[in-house]
Amino acid sequence: MRPWNFSAGPSALPLEVLQQAAAEMTDWHGSGMSVMEMSHRGKQFTQIRDEAEADLRELLAIPEDYEVLFMQGGATAENAIVPLNLIGRGKTGKADYLLSGIWSNKSHKEAQRYGDIAVAASSGSETALDGATQAPWTWFPGIDTWKVRPDASYLHLCSNETIGGVEFSDWPDMASVGAPDVPLVVDASSHFLSRSIDFSRAAIVYAGAQKNAGPAGVTMVIVRKDLLGHALPVCPSAFDYSNVAAADSMFNTPPTYAIYVAGLVFKWLKKQGGVAAMESVNVAKAQALYSYLDTADFYLSTVHAASRSRMNVPFFLRDESLNSEFLAQADAAGLMQLKGHKSVGGMRASIYNAVPMEGVQALISFMQNFAQRHG
Ligand code: PMP
Repeated sequence: MRPWNFSAGPSALPLEVLQQAAAEMTDWHGSGMSVMEMSHRGKQFTQIRDEAEADLRELLAIPEDYEVLFMQGGATAENAIVPLNLIGRGKTGKADYLLSGIWSNKSHKEAQRYGDIAVAASSGSETALDGATQAPWTWFPGIDTWKVRPDASYLHLCSNETIGGVEFSDWPDMASVGAPDVPLVVDASSHFLSRSIDFSRAAIVYAGAQKNAGPAGVTMVIVRKDLLGHALPVCPSAFDYSNVAAADSMFNTPPTYAIYVAGLVFKWLKKQGGVAAMESVNVAKAQALYSYLDTADFYLSTVHAASRSRMNVPFFLRDESLNSEFLAQADAAGLMQLKGHKSVGGMRASIYNAVPMEGVQALISFMQNFAQRHG
């Protein structure tokens, strides 16, 4: 049996997907070629790309008035690509950002190169919530505190902070925050395909593939069509959404192998019953792990309960001197990559779609056992 892999990304892929990619490595469907060896414009790869898009559209019920783009540069490049494409739209050069952790802060910092950028709300301070004190970046700013400029070109948020383990999925109607004409742009990298998406609320949703959707190298960008065609003159042509859309993501050579493996993941997801079925498994996995953390005195979870991520679960040993022993023993027990991000410390279990309930149960048993031996 393979060990359980709790990496935050690049992360576990479904074994069946890896096995299929291996079986097709040197000869894809009798073509005599590896997918890596095919022209991106040939009929075989065109079929692979078209099926990947169709399956993704089906999985997420993406409306017809949205383009699905397969891009490169990761979510980090989108931090520049979003303002380059959108900030010219409103003619005010303004864009607003919600800050909820490291990834949204990075997006905000990059955007400052391109316009008049304001913070709509931030969780970067201590706050009192439900009678307890929450540390910075362990909670999500309440919608009633957002200050969105009605003439901003867009509002950006990160809906799952991979490092802090903070998730925000109840995206508001922008009219309810006093900005009905401001499109919402969402970095959903680390919970993409883990739950359904309400596209009536978001104008752009983007995600690097290497968590829930495939290998590193491809970024999925789902963009409402009316937002195309406003790129700044300095926007690199390969990053202009309208160019990429017009060329069916083949404006230049796309990351063909990464798109192929992502496509296999989409087919695997459909076989599991789709995103809704996966979401209920994810709810059960997160509930199991958080309820153990809440009952075990040995461990601590510091994220505000209402903002806890279903995908990335940071936790601490109360006695931090046991951290290296915990990690070494976990590794030996076949539970890999549990070390927390250096900015947060402690541990982090990323329990993406490819980590089943069985893996979460194995982690909980190990944690119980470790606590017993050291409690
Ligand atoms: N946003 C989020 C939420 C992420 O988790 C990551 C990667 N961990 C990024 C952005 C940056 O992605 P990339 O390194 O692929 O550019």
